[in-house]
Amino acid sequence: TEKNRDGYVPLFDSFERFYLRYVYRRVKDCWNRPICSCPADTLVLKDRITPDFGWSFEFTGTTTKCLNLGSYNYLGFAQTSGPCAEDSIKSIEKYGIATCNARRELGTNALHIELEELTAKFFGVEDAIVFGMGFATNALNLPSLLSPGCLVVSDEKNHASIILGLRLSGATIKVYKHNNVKHMEKVIVDSIAYGQKNGKPWKKILIILEGVFSMEGSIVKLPQIVEIKKKYGAYIYLDEAHSIGATGSHGRGVTDFYGVDPKDIDILMGTFTKSFGSAGGYIAGSKSLINFLRANSHAHCYASSMAPAVTQQILTSMKIIMGLDGTNEGKKRIDQLARNTRYFRKRLAQIGVITYGHEDSPVVPMLVYLFSKIGAVVRTLTTRNIAVVGAGFPATPIMEGRIRFCLSAAHSKDQLDYALSVIDEIGDKLGLKYSRKPKDPN
Ligand code: PMP
Repeated sequence: TEKNRDGYVPLFDSFERFYLRYVYRRVKDCWNRPICSCPADTLVLKDRITPDFGWSFEFTGTTTKCLNLGSYNYLGFAQTSGPCAEDSIKSIEKYGIATCNARRELGTNALHIELEELTAKFFGVEDAIVFGMGFATNALNLPSLLSPGCLVVSDEKNHASIILGLRLSGATIKVYKHNNVKHMEKVIVDSIAYGQKNGKPWKKILIILEGVFSMEGSIVKLPQIVEIKKKYGAYIYLDEAHSIGATGSHGRGVTDFYGVDPKDIDILMGTFTKSFGSAGGYIAGSKSLINFLRANSHAHCYASSMAPAVTQQILTSMKIIMGLDGTNEGKKRIDQLARNTRYFRKRLAQIGVITYGHEDSPVVPMLVYLFSKIGAVVRTLTTRNIAVVGAGFPATPIMEGRIRFCLSAAHSKDQLDYALSVIDEIGDKLGLKYSRKPKDPN
């Protein structure tokens, strides 16, 4: 192994060094942008000194108010006023800022219990457990559910938190082509045959996927996958980070969207970071699953529990979504998000830019392909007061850089029209209108 002058093995390998130094440095002003406001329909960005191709982050001391097309505030619950904010402030007055302990120790409060009961009721399943962080919900629970000798059949576009959890578990991971049910079945059939040939049948088979895929905007083909699970005696782990609240006519995610019985999904996982405007994650399912996790999950036993105001924000927004506040507000927001999504996607298609994903997915990736264009588009949009997120390798294939728009029920038609007119204009200048339309691989 190569050593540097002082005899140390370098911390980063050469490829990472090359990539980080020569590529990311040039676009560093497009990521890590501090915001100075609530991530609502608009947000305030801290202005940075134009990139100097170094690593330092220097600020001008001024800020810019932007239309926010980058935060996952699908139902518009991230706001500084209204019932969620009022209830959360009251919860701080009663419980303080933090729990200062793990759930199993003195870190469980009445809000956690109420939220777990409500989450189980929301899905119509027996029980639920909540965690302080969505990422850790995957990364730290999958190792409790799986071990060497288990087979995991995983969608190639699954989130980093899933991949990390699967690797930590020591299970055998087989990846299938994104949202390709035929390929998934082939992987299962081949793997079962391999296990039998070696005289070591798999302890269990778990199919793992997302409801709405975060980088693609595609929606999982759930009904066919439930059939496959039943055919091969497998289990399903469904990550609904981007679909819970945002998909289905009652906001109950992809089971609601397709009319699939939630009890057919063995492990319903999701995060509260998006549609609930809060933080944290949940797992919902049978009583035996949840009791097992209460005893075995590292995220439950050894990590600090969900903060009181965060828990209260979820409770209040979930009650609104479920109509338990006695109003029609939740349903109105779900329908508004669906209208905004379809309108924005339809207009983008008319403009002639290329997007991926399902027409009902509020995650809208717009392809810019070249890595160098990500920075150009993010910067240009920011100067026109529109905040977006750019995504490139390794989160996407190297030649499929994209801008990811996230729609919200909080966006007005005027706001969307403004964004669309700017995209139309910069689409000409930056060459984003591709005459030969590639097929959406998803
Ligand atoms: N799962 C998926 C599919 C995600 O997209 C994300 C993050 N966006 C997570 C899990 C992690 O959730 P959190 O951001 O709430 O930690």
